[in-house]
Amino acid sequence: MRDSARVVVIGGGVVGASVLYHLTRAGWKDVLLIERGELTCGSTWHAAGGMHTINGDPNVAKLQQYTINLYKEIEQISGQSCGMHVTGGIMLAGTRERLDWLKMTKARGRYLGMELEIISVDEAARLFPLINKQHFVGALYDPIEGHVDPYGVTHAYAKAAQMGGAEVVRHTRVTGLEARADGSWNVLTERGNVHAEHVVNAGGLWAREVGRMVGLELPILAMEHQYLITEDLPELKGQKEALHCIDFEGEIYTRQERGGMLLGTYERAGVPWSPRETPWDFTHSLLPNDLERIAPSLEVGFEHFPALGRVGIRKVVNGPFTFAPDGNPLVGPVRGLRNFWVACGVMAGFSQGGGVGLALSRWMVDGDPGADVWAMDVARFGDWATLAYTNAKVRENYSRRFRIRFPNEELSAARPLRTTPIYERLESEHAVFGDYCGLEHALWFAPSAAEATEEVTFRRSNAHLHVTAECQAVRERVGLLEISNYGKFEVTGGGAEEWLSHVMANRVPRVGRIALTPMLNERGRLIGDFTMARLAPDRVFLVCTYAAEDYYRRWFERHAPPAGVSVRPCAMQYTGLSVAGPLSRGLLQGLVREDLSSAAFPFLSFARMDVGMIPALVGRISFTGDLGYEIWVTSEYQRALYDLLIAAGSAHGLKLFGGRALNSMRLEKSFGTWAREYRPIYGPYEAGLGRFVDLKKDSFIGRSAALEEKESGGKLRLVGFSVETRDADALGDEPIWHDGRVIGWVTSGGYGYSVQRSLALGYVPRDYAELTSGFEIEILGERCKATRQAAAAFDPDGARMRT
Ligand SMILES: Cc1cc2nc3c(=O)[nH]c(=O)nc-3n(C[C@H](O)[C@H](O)[C@H](O)COP(=O)(O)OP(=O)(O)OC[C@H]3O[C@@H](n4cnc5c(N)ncnc54)[C@H](O)[C@@H]3O)c2cc1C
Repeated sequence: MRDSARVVVIGGGVVGASVLYHLTRAGWKDVLLIERGELTCGSTWHAAGGMHTINGDPNVAKLQQYTINLYKEIEQISGQSCGMHVTGGIMLAGTRERLDWLKMTKARGRYLGMELEIISVDEAARLFPLINKQHFVGALYDPIEGHVDPYGVTHAYAKAAQMGGAEVVRHTRVTGLEARADGSWNVLTERGNVHAEHVVNAGGLWAREVGRMVGLELPILAMEHQYLITEDLPELKGQKEALHCIDFEGEIYTRQERGGMLLGTYERAGVPWSPRETPWDFTHSLLPNDLERIAPSLEVGFEHFPALGRVGIRKVVNGPFTFAPDGNPLVGPVRGLRNFWVACGVMAGFSQGGGVGLALSRWMVDGDPGADVWAMDVARFGDWATLAYTNAKVRENYSRRFRIRFPNEELSAARPLRTTPIYERLESEHAVFGDYCGLEHALWFAPSAAEATEEVTFRRSNAHLHVTAECQAVRERVGLLEISNYGKFEVTGGGAEEWLSHVMANRVPRVGRIALTPMLNERGRLIGDFTMARLAPDRVFLVCTYAAEDYYRRWFERHAPPAGVSVRPCAMQYTGLSVAGPLSRGLLQGLVREDLSSAAFPFLSFARMDVGMIPALVGRISFTGDLGYEIWVTSEYQRALYDLLIAAGSAHGLKLFGGRALNSMRLEKSFGTWAREYRPIYGPYEAGLGRFVDLKKDSFIGRSAALEEKESGGKLRLVGFSVETRDADALGDEPIWHDGRVIGWVTSGGYGYSVQRSLALGYVPRDYAELTSGFEIEILGERCKATRQAAAAFDPDGARMRT
């Protein structure tokens, strides 16, 4: 074993081997993989090897497509077979709702170039004769599903990497990691130490333990997972290899394994494995079978696939594999640690391993993953994702793996975890809460406790009526919204302006003013949108998306401010309330000494004020697009502020409103939001944020790329649509058609309660951005006429927020 390497990859499962291969492919040859046993000896060796392209996040779906297409390449380079069987697959729907979901999946696949097809039950039975048709109403056909040989894939990656210069060391455990002052690492192993510039934690079942070597508690938990293989089925004899099949109602998946069928389940009573410590002596091991646990799924399975119940069981496999709380991988550099990377929590290594390796290798070599990997970025989880939180969420996620997550469905595990001081106040007003990064926030308010539950649906729910009333109150009178669920930073010190001016694309506002700004990476792509509010020459308050707080912190560490400038995350220290609507000024004016007239405190003003007895930061801005104010207080004052506003508000017809109404109103204004309209695959001019990029500044991160985008015009445009639908709105990721061709995708959609029509925002190629007609948006399998709006649906001139 060499004693120094540019990169040490810890772990030789399918993920570590893929990372190693991709690093060599990207040109880093001095790379070393250290494996404590044989390659594949963690969760990889006993996997069923299934692969498919479908994923809830289109960007992850693209990486899954990439993975499947990669197998031929690594076979060719290494000479090692991956044992590929591309049989095609069907997903069976047993209910109307599931069929709706499959239609949405098919529609989402369109702009990714997937050839998915909705088929009838008869057609499904023709393709896969083992089904009992009476249990199903339709199916989705995917021609590129299949399975691979886990051993073959892992060894093909490893061999191809070795041919590219990598070294693979087996039977050597990494026992510790020591950070060196220059950011490199001492990797301590059973066979001596290696000095590495970078370390990758691809420890799979032990990723948590490897994380602990550097003081990191990764949100990962292993679950036991079982599949069985039946005796040979006479029905399969002499036939073409059977298709892969997912039966959502039965919560099972099947595929052919030699003459029999492999059948796996994601049972509801899933069991975590080694919830605190993973034993190091678990090598090429399995867990005892527990058919009892999966008996309810098997019973349904044998009814849905009667032939499987007529033969015996040849083999049962029960093995553990890891999940993150939301079921997507954890990839990327870790905040607070230099040159330490993770590639773990990969629950579908044979669909995702290639994409994970590609993204991570680019990130390491080029400084950027080269694709939008937000859905699997390790930074999406903050310190709130503790071991016990992870345990609760992973168990929930596992048990729901084959269940529909409705767009308006809030899951119950690990809740309530984080609450603000007014939580009980809002609860007593019959708030229906949502969970955002473990934090409770009100979605909407029901008229009574009995009505404070939302029916889950792809269409408009029982909340519709109540959200209508909330929007009406804001547009006609005044509404009160809790806004604590934003990320916040305070940037202080003499060099604050200079540093912010370098990191943000817009100019830092003068004292007392607010400016909106995109944050760009070096490639001029959007990696954040912030509100900068200047309190003093040396003090700027930043408001941003809370879910991205760690993502931003990591960026701020990479572009660290000079000595004397402090960047302090303060999300939960400042809680907030917002009043919005034409009467909001009158309401707030009664509580402060300062003159709130437009002349004295115009749109985008920001000041320290006392609201009643409460010291607060007040900004004249509202995401509703109406006249409005955001009031920030340290959390011990929030209850008093709430009580004060409620009491004073009654004279103005104040009504509480929640996140659903806010989303509707921001759509009416065509305001974009992070992770939907604003993502690292778009440039600021494409996203309509060009007016917030100050090219007059000599330099800022991404300036030259932004200038280039401005000059070329970019490829895409974010546009708004008015959609003709009956009772279902676009949600995001639906295809946008024009003249019978899919040309773009929706980023978000919903009902505009004030303008009383269905709205959507989405990206289309620049050439289509000026057209108004000929568009359709596919919602639940139906192509609905859509008209591009030349301006925002509500108050297009912005007169109301400036009034
Ligand atoms: C029953 C079952 C069926 C499955 N079916 C499928 C399927 O059909 N399709 C699919 O895509 N996925 C499937 N999976 C999931 C799949 O197995 C995982 O996604 C995949 O194995 C994850 O690979 P990994 O490399 O991250 O982890 P692992 O395979 O656990 O690899 C981690 C490696 O790191 C090594 N290591 C850890 N710590 C150290 C250290 N300190 N020093 C040195 N080495 C170390 C370990 O020895 C191990 O070899 C299934 C899993 C199970 C259990």
